[in-house]
Amino acid sequence: MERPYNSYSENLKNRYGYRIYRVGVDGGFSCPHRDKSRLKGGCIFCDSQGAVSVYHRKSESSYTHESSFEKDIDSQLTVNVPPLAEQAHRGVEFVRRRYKAEHFSIYFQSYSNTYAPVEVLKEKYDSVIDLYPWEELIVSTRPDCIDRQKVALLSSYKTDKRQVCVELGLQSGNDRILKAMRRGHSVKDFLDAASLVKEASLNLCVHVLTGFPGETEAELNDTIRVINTVHPQAVKIHNLNIASGTVLFEKYLEGEVTAPCTKRHLWSTVYFLRRIPSDIVIERLICETPSHRLASPRAFADKNNFLRSLEGYMVENNFKQGDLI
Ligand code: SF4
Repeated sequence: MERPYNSYSENLKNRYGYRIYRVGVDGGFSCPHRDKSRLKGGCIFCDSQGAVSVYHRKSESSYTHESSFEKDIDSQLTVNVPPLAEQAHRGVEFVRRRYKAEHFSIYFQSYSNTYAPVEVLKEKYDSVIDLYPWEELIVSTRPDCIDRQKVALLSSYKTDKRQVCVELGLQSGNDRILKAMRRGHSVKDFLDAASLVKEASLNLCVHVLTGFPGETEAELNDTIRVINTVHPQAVKIHNLNIASGTVLFEKYLEGEVTAPCTKRHLWSTVYFLRRIPSDIVIERLICETPSHRLASPRAFADKNNFLRSLEGYMVENNFKQGDLI
């Protein structure tokens, strides 16, 4: 059955004729917005462990859904981050073993992967770029961590065989919501950063988050408007997860906030998909915080169930990505 939205896996198969697996690495960059010396404290929902690849988080393997998230699990976890080349080898072996993968992309995933002087960035990207015939170099970052020089460096890794993609966090296209999230950037900051990436003909993937407490339909429309203005190659849609150790978790314990349930996220996802162009690739549809750290929503459907419900609902109602544009 053809999917009612432009799914990432199918798009890759159609574009390349085979599946491509991402190998996530941690370049040890941190995030300027979490920098305690600058007293910013990070985004209200930021799960400090969340951006780390599963195979680098060995100490978490003993936790289950029933492990109490109230026990400050974060302080008991240690993240084992080996040198970049070793991470790349380990990641490739992992996807080869588990999925019989033959084609790979390298994904600088943790925190803000352009948060360093250009020379340092170059050294880090150079240390892995020739290890495998990566189909894509993917770098995830914040709008305030990118400039012309960094974009030029990223462009230098483009070849006939290798694409370069920048993943930029927008989260919301509404400044009131961005402020409530404590994102530390405005919609305009995002638009400026997105222009730099697009002018350099790099691929752009935008992260958005729906269902932030108090978000109205008009505010969700603002996010849709920004996506339609920028027209990135891809988006990642996240439902709000409240993870232990976050500022939002404190508010949750006080009873101030809740996170959207499966039904509400399904509604906002369909609303969003129908209003964005059908050629934008949908790389993600839910947030997947490991369940032992997830305070809310605790009874959210697992990924496969959610995708089945979403597709079933769209097909049944004859809805398609972009059908309301
Ligand atoms: S930009 Fe990302 S890593 Fe930095 S504080 Fe926000 S969510 Fe955390």
